[in-house]
Amino acid sequence: TDIKELLLSRIRDVADHPEPGVMFKDITPLLADPAAFTALTDALAELTVRHGATKIVGLEARGFILGAPAAVRAGVGFIPVRKAGKLPGATLSQAYDLEYGSAEIEVHAEDLIEGDRVMVIDDVLATGGTAEASLQLIRRAGAEVAGVAVLMELSFLAGRQRLEAVLDGAPLESL
Ligand code: 5GP
Repeated sequence: TDIKELLLSRIRDVADHPEPGVMFKDITPLLADPAAFTALTDALAELTVRHGATKIVGLEARGFILGAPAAVRAGVGFIPVRKAGKLPGATLSQAYDLEYGSAEIEVHAEDLIEGDRVMVIDDVLATGGTAEASLQLIRRAGAEVAGVAVLMELSFLAGRQRLEAVLDGAPLESL
């Protein structure tokens, strides 16, 4: 489709970042292009409304950049999920495994409550570990998962397969 071409044309491949052997998908050219950034924001907002979400959770850090304008456009609240130790209030945390070691993400406990329907937004779905942990966090807070929406999924890393169980029927949308 037209939007897919536009978005793809604004994503830059950077070889050997952040380490040798990795081809990093750099979205900064897309952010710098108002037509592409607006098209992306509109598409994410449309998915949020279509799936009946009442809140957007953005995953640090690029999920903040994409999720916040989409939340404003969709007319829903924006909730940051941050790396451990950054949020000042009472938090729920969720640890998850990385290739080497582990990581932990957090959300303000009071930001998600029973009855909320949450759309999770991030730029890239890679192994799916970050998104999986965010879904566990949302469910533990008592909220419902409306879906996950990403700009792109690196299908060779099989994040979609990993997420399947924890999505529990909710949609995974990649633009
Ligand atoms: P996962 O947990 O799915 O393995 O990794 C996804 C997280 O890492 C996302 O928060 C995403 O921003 C980041 N990430 C992994 N690979 C890339 C990449 O090639 N480009 C960008 N922009 N982010 C990536």
